Amino acid sequence: LRALVIVLGDQLDLASSAFDGFDPAQDAVWMAEVAEESTHVWSSKPRIALFLAAMRHFAQAVQARHWRLHYARLDDADHPGSLAAKLRQSIEALAPGRLVLCAPGDFRVWTALKAVAAACGTLLEVRDDRHFYATVREFRAHAKSRNALRMEYFYREMRVRHGVLMDGDQPVGGTWNLDAENREAFGRDGPGFVPAPSRFAPDAITQEVIALVNTRFHDHPGRLDSFAWPVTRPQALEALRGFIRERLPLFGRYQDAMWPGEPWLYHAHLAAALNLKLLDPREVVAAAEAAYRSGAAPLASVEGFIRQILGWREYVRGIYWTRMPDYIERNQLDAQEDLPAWYWSGDTDMACLRDAMVQTLEHGYAHHIQRLMVTGLFALLLGVQPKQVHAWYLSVYVDAVEWVELPNTLGMSQYADGGLMGSKPYIASGKYIERMSSGQHCAGCRYDPALREGDSACPFTTLYWDFLGRHAVLLSQNPRMRPQVQNLERLTPDQRLGIAERAAAIRSGAVGSA
Ligand code: FAD
Ligand code: SF4
Repeated sequence: LRALVIVLGDQLDLASSAFDGFDPAQDAVWMAEVAEESTHVWSSKPRIALFLAAMRHFAQAVQARHWRLHYARLDDADHPGSLAAKLRQSIEALAPGRLVLCAPGDFRVWTALKAVAAACGTLLEVRDDRHFYATVREFRAHAKSRNALRMEYFYREMRVRHGVLMDGDQPVGGTWNLDAENREAFGRDGPGFVPAPSRFAPDAITQEVIALVNTRFHDHPGRLDSFAWPVTRPQALEALRGFIRERLPLFGRYQDAMWPGEPWLYHAHLAAALNLKLLDPREVVAAAEAAYRSGAAPLASVEGFIRQILGWREYVRGIYWTRMPDYIERNQLDAQEDLPAWYWSGDTDMACLRDAMVQTLEHGYAHHIQRLMVTGLFALLLGVQPKQVHAWYLSVYVDAVEWVELPNTLGMSQYADGGLMGSKPYIASGKYIERMSSGQHCAGCRYDPALREGDSACPFTTLYWDFLGRHAVLLSQNPRMRPQVQNLERLTPDQRLGIAERAAAIRSGAVGSA
């Protein structure tokens, strides 16, 4: 065997650099399902099922090319359980001349694979991941050229370099960022008719995976009754077409809006397909730009959407790979609380959180504002250890892979990186959730978002004031936070005491659990 080409569970792309020069007569593909990937964090059933179903379908696509494939199934009798141990077993059995690998997304996996290759004395050839617009080297060069790292400037550079939404050397429409036109709430009448998202009934392969996950990981969080994610490239392309046609036009406008019982709204639901590499970001971005150029979608929506992919998605990858392994240890605010147990069950009496948890457990999905300004915000205000928050996000979402999840959680949501991902902590009181859900979440809640003390006080509102007080010194160094901190001065000693008592009750679990 000349080369054993390793394909990881989030590298399901036949155009991957790992296959460059692949010779079916001399080379073979290696894939392994491993229990460790589902247990190193308490991975949810939808997330495990998605990975396994997509891997098994990809294996079929490899076999359809008549390429030799060594595929380890989770339930194989001789499976040692971890990726590293399985690879070692295969190297010993197959004695490949070298291993070929497209750069992994995950630092832990990368370290483990390097160690196995070294221990076996087998050459490991690692190739750039062409899936991304920017290489890590390019991101590092960008970071070096600036005093302060900001997504917005990186994004502009990417637009220019890749000619995305440009008219000559100017941004289409004359401005780089049309956020001011986005971010409305739905208003009293609600979202009205929202086009149904693309959902794919499980075929025989996926059904087999669902049965396996329900048995082997029965005690893991989440449910599989309504599993319908795209697990093949044709399905992912269909989901992309459906989004561009039906939801992109209103994506920007309602990007931050929430509504109880409506998990999908106008979002793309494409992150899992992108992160598994079933979709190429260039085809997603090109389809969105074409919708603008043909007049099918407004610029504000298209620019807002493209910024998420060409900007944020590339930026977080750059942060992850230039800051790991230290990044995962960051805890700028010295947050030491435990994550409340109801994050894993949804058993809370806070309506907005319950809604986000229930749909997360059901589908492995919540949209960005729910992740940032509901589940993430509560953990931030409560002061939960960033690593515990990280473990939760990495477990529950179908699109969760560490390179994108970690900077979003630790950096953007928990401010644990001290401002690399965002220039200030994303904090708000319950009033923000009330506004962005047009009052609907709070109308169905036993708490009142306007109150910060007393039995009916909204825990978000109490903890928002408590957070300002606990971090007043740090926050007042940031000119954008100073006005919020100055509001503290208006509080009487009694009000401060009321907030402190209520915050302590929330932290003890006496308030908030169902
Ligand atoms: P849309 O809102 O429709 O956005 C379109 C696409 O843009 C997404 O599919 C995604 O590929 C990309 N995108 C949007 N926002 C971001 C972002 N902040 N960072 C990187 N890419 C982005 N995204 C993940 O892909 N995996 C994660 O594990 C993940 N964890 C997150 C954890 C927290 C605490 C937060 C605040 C955000 C997280 N995100 C993560 C980013 C974002 O919330 C999801 O990408 C998005 O909600 C996925 O749903 P969608 O496909 O409908 O996205
Ligand atoms: Fe959420 Fe507070 Fe509104 Fe209840 S009152 S739904 S806890 S923001």
